Amino acid sequence: MPSVFLKTYGCQMNERDSEAVAARLLARGFDLAPSEEAADIVLLNTCTVRQSAEEKAWNKMQALLADRRRQNGRRVLGMLGCMAQACGGDLLERLPGIDLVVGTRKLHRVPDFLGDLLEGRRAAICETGDEPGSQNALREHLDPAARPRPAVTAFVNIMQGCNHRCAFCVVPKTRGPERSRPLPEIVDECRQLIDRGVREITLLGQIVNRYGRHEMADIDGRSPFVQLLEAVDALDGLERLRFTAPHPDGYGADLVEAYARLPKLCESAHLPVQSGSDRILHLMRRGHTVEQFRSLVDQLRRVRPGIGLITDLIVGFPGETDADFEATLDLVRQVEFDQAYLFKYSHRPDTPAAAMPDQVPLGVREARHAELIKTVDEIAARRYQQFLGRHVQVLVEGPSRKNARRWTGRTRCHKIVLLEGSDRQLGQLIDVRITRTGRYTLYGDSAWIGMD
Ligand code: SF4
Repeated sequence: MPSVFLKTYGCQMNERDSEAVAARLLARGFDLAPSEEAADIVLLNTCTVRQSAEEKAWNKMQALLADRRRQNGRRVLGMLGCMAQACGGDLLERLPGIDLVVGTRKLHRVPDFLGDLLEGRRAAICETGDEPGSQNALREHLDPAARPRPAVTAFVNIMQGCNHRCAFCVVPKTRGPERSRPLPEIVDECRQLIDRGVREITLLGQIVNRYGRHEMADIDGRSPFVQLLEAVDALDGLERLRFTAPHPDGYGADLVEAYARLPKLCESAHLPVQSGSDRILHLMRRGHTVEQFRSLVDQLRRVRPGIGLITDLIVGFPGETDADFEATLDLVRQVEFDQAYLFKYSHRPDTPAAAMPDQVPLGVREARHAELIKTVDEIAARRYQQFLGRHVQVLVEGPSRKNARRWTGRTRCHKIVLLEGSDRQLGQLIDVRITRTGRYTLYGDSAWIGMD
């Protein structure tokens, strides 16, 4: 069977989707090519959250098409995911020669579409329609045999889409309305992963703390999302539980309290705040104020002292003044995040923000971005320094991608730790003494106290 190379752009959701598509292709007898050069079929799983991600995939596909023309080749070329969903059939015209365009709700059918192409039943396929139940269709994980080492951590999709409609965001358009998977099916998928040696699971979705809002009821004041956390936390063999990405206004008292009650729920929270200015939060249609966000941070730090906090921030949103930006810097200094994903506002077609007045010039966005990076890095460096000499529990995940002589894992508060390691420690929870800190990295020695 032909070999397929899947190149993924963008977020963890895309990574997870690509893994499931790869597992389905293998189950259909396709091979996974070790490199693009060796592949008969090249598929790009795309992202449109920012202009830069879209440009990268666009340029890549143009290069692949030009290369195929030059070599008069027969390689099959396709675009999947958010860009395919947003542009649809337009891509067939604007990228003449492309063979396949598959949107976010049809990814599970990629093996079928490739079969149609290879057997000449169809050509120039574009599939971006809706499909009931699509949120529940991508649940395969790569077989351990298809990996160099068994996976210790895994992501599990719990829902698709978002109804929030933040003014800068294309996700509601590319991923559609919120649709959640049945709780028992998610728990079953987690159980199967644990049986395969997974020790840490991250529940995944665009707005996870709204899980089940349209399909399930609260029970004794516990939201469907907290019911799901409880069910996964109860699974034997699981050591750690995480989730991403939530929305601050989806944090009810039950979810905050869950951090104190569920032993495997790790003390780390990804809290995208986007801006420190109430005026900008209002223009962004984020649905909460800075004070409400600060109060949430205080509640989480009360129930789990030392909780690791990660955020997302956008600078240069239309209308952002120096004072608004200063308010963002103030919030960062007050909260002292452990890490932050920092973005320059990116103009996205068909979003409310795209039509707003007072677009901020690129030069100003770049200057603010640089200043924010500097501020966040300085604070984070101080927070990482506090780990020097301390003992932390690390789940060993495998060799470091950057330096194979070192092994890597994470603390419960989501900090990367590099240490001396070997296959004997894979998937083990070990006690590590921190001896050095680097940029968003801790270095440690382990006396290696095994789980058994
Ligand atoms: S909550 Fe997140 S995914 Fe949903 S519209 Fe806002 S930024 Fe986009």
